[in-house]
Amino acid sequence: AAMRKARIERTKTVCTYCGVGCSFEVWTKDRQILKIEPTHEAPVNGISTCVKGKWGWDFVNSDQRLTKPLIRKNGAFEEATWDEALDLIASKLTEIKEEHGPESIGVIASSKCSNEENFLAQKFARAVIGTNNIDNCSRYCQSPATAGLLRTVGLGGDSGTMQDIETSDLVFVIGANPAESHPVLATRVKRAHKLFGQKLIVADIREHELAQRADFLMHPKPSTDLIWISAVTKYIIDQDWHDKEFLAKRVSNVDGYIKTLDKFTLEYAEEMTGLSKEDLIKAATMIHEANSVCILWAMGITQHSGATDASTAISNLLLITGNYGRPGTGAYPLRGHNNVQGACDFGTMPSWFPGYEPVGNSEIREKYEKAWGVEIPKDPGMDNHHMVEAIHKGTLKSLYLFGEEMGLVDANSNHVQSCFEKLDFFVVQDIFFSKTAQFADVVLPAAPSLEKDGTFVNTERRIQRFYKVFDPLGDSKPDWQIFQEVANRMGAGWNYSHPSEIMDEAASLAVIFEGVSYDRLEGFNSQVWPVHKDGTDSPLLYQEKFAFPDGKARLFAVDWTPPYEAGEEYDIHLNNGRLLEHFHEGNMTYRSEGLTHKVPGIWLEVSHELAEERNLTDGTLVKLTSPYGEVKVRTLVTDRVKGKEVYLPMNSFADDEAVNYLTSSYHDLVTHTPAYKEINVKMEILEAT
Ligand code: SF4
Repeated sequence: AAMRKARIERTKTVCTYCGVGCSFEVWTKDRQILKIEPTHEAPVNGISTCVKGKWGWDFVNSDQRLTKPLIRKNGAFEEATWDEALDLIASKLTEIKEEHGPESIGVIASSKCSNEENFLAQKFARAVIGTNNIDNCSRYCQSPATAGLLRTVGLGGDSGTMQDIETSDLVFVIGANPAESHPVLATRVKRAHKLFGQKLIVADIREHELAQRADFLMHPKPSTDLIWISAVTKYIIDQDWHDKEFLAKRVSNVDGYIKTLDKFTLEYAEEMTGLSKEDLIKAATMIHEANSVCILWAMGITQHSGATDASTAISNLLLITGNYGRPGTGAYPLRGHNNVQGACDFGTMPSWFPGYEPVGNSEIREKYEKAWGVEIPKDPGMDNHHMVEAIHKGTLKSLYLFGEEMGLVDANSNHVQSCFEKLDFFVVQDIFFSKTAQFADVVLPAAPSLEKDGTFVNTERRIQRFYKVFDPLGDSKPDWQIFQEVANRMGAGWNYSHPSEIMDEAASLAVIFEGVSYDRLEGFNSQVWPVHKDGTDSPLLYQEKFAFPDGKARLFAVDWTPPYEAGEEYDIHLNNGRLLEHFHEGNMTYRSEGLTHKVPGIWLEVSHELAEERNLTDGTLVKLTSPYGEVKVRTLVTDRVKGKEVYLPMNSFADDEAVNYLTSSYHDLVTHTPAYKEINVKMEILEAT
C-alpha cells in the first residue's frame, strides 16, 4: 500500500475551460486522473469548482487524440514523421512568402494555449514570416468590449477583480449568463446577493438562472441595448444624479457627450426597446441609490452589428455615475475561454504587440525590431474576418491555425469552410482531428495544458502558472516547441528550453508585464497586470488615473446601429450561447465521460406560446433555416424563453446541429466581431413526437 501511495502525484493546474481561472491540484497515478482537488490557496475559486473543472479532463487520455503528424497525399491523410511534416511546412511557407509576399500568409492563434505559446505565435508571424496577419478568437467574442474600453478608459480588460464584483452594492448583468458560462463567479454573486444584501439587475432576452434570481429583470427587444442604456444614462443626468465631482476632475468631453444624449428620451427608448418607462426609471434609480456598481456583460452585447458602440455606452454610464476606480465598481466584460485574455495580452492581434502597444507606433516597432533583429511591417495586419474574405478573393494563400475550431466557431460556417478549400497550404495544429483539420494539408498533434508548463490570464487580468502533469501523449508536442521547430527551419535561430524564458522575453518588452516572472508566480501565487518592476500588481485599475496620457477618462458619443434582418419569412429570433456542462464545439467536453453522461447533447429551447402555435413538444425534431444554411435539432419547451425567441446552445454534438450554419457574415462595424446574435430563422417540423 505504501508503494502504491508513493506513486500518487499532486500537481497544480489552472482550468482549461472558462475565463474565471479556477486553479486546483490534479491527483494522478501514471496517466490516470484520480481526482481534482481545489484548495484554499486558489486565489479565484478557493475550494469551489464547477462541473467542467471537476469532471472535464478525460479528453486528455482519449483514444481519439492526435498522436502523429499527418500529411495530405492524393486527397487522403497519411501519418508522417515530425521531420517530414516540419520540413514540408517550412519549405511551403518559405515558397509562398517568396512568391506572393509575407502578407499572403496568416496565423490564427488559440485562446486555449498558454501566454508563452501565443507570444511565440505572434513572434513567428511578425519576425519569421514578416506579417501582422495574426488574430485570435476574441474576434468572435469580446473584441467590441475591448474596443469600447480602449475608447473610454484606456485599457482593454476588466477594471477590477472578482473580489470587487462580490463586494459591490449593485451588480448589473447585461447579455451574459454567468451561471452557465462563468459558474464559479456566478456562485460568488449568488452568495453576495443572498447573504450580504447585494442588489442584482439582469437585462436579457432569456430567463437564465441569474435572471430568475434577480431583484429586477429587464427583457428588452433583441439588439436594442445601446438605446436603453443611453436612455438610463440620460435620465440619471436629467435628475442631476450624475457624479459631477468625479466628472470634473477625472473625465474629459463631458459637455460634448451629454449633448449627444438628447434623442435618447424615455419615450424613444420605450418605443424602440419594448421596455416601459417605469422599467428604465427603476434601473436608473437603483444605480443612483447604490454606492458602488459593477456592470458585467458578454456576448449578448458584443455579438451585434453595433457591439463596440453598445460596450462604449456601458462604459459611459459607469463614468457618468462615478463607478470606476473604487472598490466594488467597474466594467467587467466576462472572458469566455480560459486564456482569451492572455492571447490578446500577449499580442496575437493584428494591430497590437504584447501589452496593447500599437503596431502603428514607430518607437514601439523599433523596440521589437531591435530585440528580434528584423523589420516588422508598420501597418496592422488582417483580422480573422479579413483573412476569410482575402482567402475567398485569392490574396491570402496560406493559413497556419492552432487550437481553434474555426470551421464551426466562426460565423457562417459554410462560407468559412469553403474558404479553407481555396487555400494553397493550410496547417492545423490541435489535440483532436477537428472539423477544421479535415481541410488541412498538414495536421500537427499538439499537447493540452496538462502536458506542458505555462501561464494563463483569466478575465480579471490575473496571471497564473500551470504545471506539467503528464508527458505529451504519443508523439504530440507542446505548441511552443512546434513553433520553435518551424521557425528554426525558416532560419530563426530560437533557443528556448522552457516557457519561463519566453515569459522573461515578454516581460523585457511589454511594459505591463515588466515585473512578471515564473519565480513570482510559483505555486498558487498570481499577479494581476499591469505588474511593476518590483513585482507589485494592479487588481483595481484607475484609482488615481485612467490609462491615457492626460490621466483622464473620455466620454465617447455613440449611436445605435439597427440589427441585420434576414427578411419576413424568417420569423423566429434565434438566440444562442452556452450550456453549463459543455464547452463550445465540445471537442473536449464531449470526450469527457462524466459530462457527456450528464448531458449527452443539445436541444432547442422554445416557449410555451410557440409550442402551442406550432404543435411542438419536448423532443420534436425541427429544421431551422436561415439564408446561410440549416440545422436539425430537437425542441424542449421551457419558460426560459418567450414568444418567438428561441435558444440554441452552441455546444453542438453533431455536425448538422452547429448554430453557425445559420449565422451570417454580418459583423460589428468597428471590430468585425460576427453578429452571431442577429439571426432570424424559419422552422419546419421534421418529426413529431
Ligand atoms: Fe473551470 Fe470556469 Fe468551471 Fe472554474 S468556473 S472550474 S474556470 S469552467
